[in-house]
Order: sequence, then structure tokens, then C-alpha cells
Amino acid sequence: MRRIYLDHTATTPLDPRVMDAMRPCFSGTFGNASSVHSYGRDSRELLERARGIIAEGVGAEPAEIFFTSGGTEADNLAIFGVMSAAREREGIVTSRAEHHAVLEPCRYLAGKGKEVSFLPVDPYGAVDIDALRRQVGGGTALVSIMHANNETGTISGIQSIAGIAHQAGALFHTDAVQSAGKLPLDVRGLGVDLMTLSAHKMYGPKGIGALFVRRGVPVDPMLHGGGQERGRRPGTENVPLAVGFAEAFRFALQEREEESSRLRSLRDSLELRIREAFPEVLVNGDRAERLPHILNISFPGELFPIEGDMLVMNMDLEGIAVTSGSACTSGSLDPSHVILAMGRDEKTAKATLRFSFGKGNTMDDVGYVAEKLNVVIRRMLKKPAG
Ligand code: PLP
Repeated sequence: MRRIYLDHTATTPLDPRVMDAMRPCFSGTFGNASSVHSYGRDSRELLERARGIIAEGVGAEPAEIFFTSGGTEADNLAIFGVMSAAREREGIVTSRAEHHAVLEPCRYLAGKGKEVSFLPVDPYGAVDIDALRRQVGGGTALVSIMHANNETGTISGIQSIAGIAHQAGALFHTDAVQSAGKLPLDVRGLGVDLMTLSAHKMYGPKGIGALFVRRGVPVDPMLHGGGQERGRRPGTENVPLAVGFAEAFRFALQEREEESSRLRSLRDSLELRIREAFPEVLVNGDRAERLPHILNISFPGELFPIEGDMLVMNMDLEGIAVTSGSACTSGSLDPSHVILAMGRDEKTAKATLRFSFGKGNTMDDVGYVAEKLNVVIRRMLKKPAG
């Protein structure tokens, strides 16, 4: 059976060129990067070269990049680390459309008595700037707003959000897991103090990410041990994954413009084909300020009594991997918190599908997916294919 992967927002396959770069680090250059002998120094050299590539990719200094086990850990380190180090300020401002790796630490801290505001978003998923201005004040230690949303692709105006945070004397963190390699990232131009990255969304290995921390920003470590990563993130450095991360980022930056326009045309063609078949379909996210590879659609609940998860399963039976955006929490399938925050009703939010394109997809896939979606939906609605 033909299989088509359209879930690159969840993860991407490892680029074979990245695998080639990592392979020697698993065997030959195996030394502990913190050892002083030549084995250690060889590993250290690879690690620091990787750090340099990542730093350059975001316009930072190498000393401002801290490797972590992924995006989740980097988000947690940003939030817990800043809040632990904050002396007088107790508040965090974030949004309702953030990834769980930001929402959950914030909810945890709210439970411990910190003042946390979860800002509303507009119907396109962008943060309500007036609400942001109202909430950020003298007690705010940290504002955390993602650069681009993983479900809808909506891009936030983080430069102006950072400006509002700074005016109030707060620090600004952004989760750039989805935008890295897709949008130009310059930490100085954007004015961010902390930024999260993850390798496996850009054809790099799983289990490694990084937190950019602007020089001088106080962040307490969450782990205590051997003092690696300048004390911010102890634990023996994972040199092979760091090398893979840097290679993946380097390729992503080199190929960014060409690949983005290719993905945009695949995405836009699929959107057109779906609209032709189902004119009532709703496209979620900002039509202009959106990542090029994400198409997130909802079927209006009143007209289409279908569950996104059943849709995902039926598409999977046709060999097509997509996602509904629902979070499976303790056996119950909840509609996406992002789509709900954008104001969709629960039934419509449940009938949501996210397609995310990547390197392996072609225009031929678009026609096939549109055709199968048409068949699947009409079958689920028990209507003849149109
Ligand atoms: N932040 C965003 C926006 C994401 O999409 C993801 C992954 O789904 C994460 C954080 C978590 O990253 P990781 O899987 O590397 O822990």
C-alpha cells in the first residue's frame, strides 16, 4: 500500500546526511567531552563546533547556547530557571495556545502560588496584544509566547511582544521549536532573552534541543550534578546528538528558502483541493502569517458529525499519516486546546485535521491525499463520493 507521511510537525525523519555526520561520534570519538585527555578533547572539539553552528544559526554567541534533552526540557528550564532566579517578581504571562511544554510548567507554578496569566488568542491564534499590555506589569518576571504554533502554524509578532515585556522590565522567552529552520531567527533582532530549539523537527535526531539564554540573564539550573553546560544543565554531554543537531540546522538554513516555497505550494494546492470538495471547510490559523508547511482544517460540527480521531484512523487505513490535534489524556480524546482557544465550538474543534508537509512529499501526494480524504469523509457521512 502507498504510504504518505504528513505529520512533520510531530517529528521528521532523520536526514541521511545527518546520520553520516553522527556515525563516527558513536564509536571513534567516544570520549567524555569533559575529560582533559585527548579523547575528551576530541569530543569537546566536536561539541563546541556544534554549539558554534547553532549559535550562528540564531545570531547568538556560542556561550549563550545550552544543550538540553529536547524542546520540552528547554521550555521547562526557561520557565522554572527564570522563576527560581527571579528575586522580586512572581508573575508569568503566557498564552492559551502554547505547547504543553510551556503550559504545564506554568500551571504547576500557578498551583504553587505564582501569578500566572494565560492570555486569550484571536480567531487566527495570535495573542491578544491589548490583553498582553494589560497583564504585563511590574510584578511580571517572564513573558513566554511561542514563535510559531505547532498546530496551526500561526506566527506571533514576537518582536513587538518582546518590546512590551521589556518595557515592563520582564524577560521574554519564545518557543521556536517549529519555526527554527523555517523562518529567519535572529535573537538580537527579535529581542528575545531565551529561546527554545529542538532537533527532531528539522530532520535531526530526537532527544536533543537547546536553550538560548542571553548573556547576563539569570537562570537557575533545574538539575544539579557535574557542572556541565556551565552549570546550567549538568549531565555528560551527548556529543553525537549535538553534532547531528548542528548538521540538521545547517542544512535546514541552507535549504530554507527553496524548501519553504516548495512546501507552501504543496500546502496551498491541498487546501484548494479540499475546498473544492468541501466548500464549508474552515482553515485554522492566520492565512498570511503562517508556517509554509502546515494546513489545519476543521469541518463545521453542525454539518459534519465526525470525530477527528476517527478521521485520522480512517486516513491511516488508507496509508496516510495525519493528526487531529486532539490530545489523548487518560483515555479521553479532548479537542485541541489551541483550536478551542481560537473560538471554535467543541464539535468543530473535534473535527479537525492537521497536515504538515516535509521533504519527502511531492505534488503527486497532494492529489492522492485529497482524493482519499474525499472518499473517507463521504464514507464516514455515508454520502456517495462527489
Ligand atoms: N514546543 C513545541 C512548539 C513543539 O511542537 C514541541 C514538540 O512537539 C515541543 C516544544 C517539545 O519538543 P521535544 O519533543 O523536543 O521535547
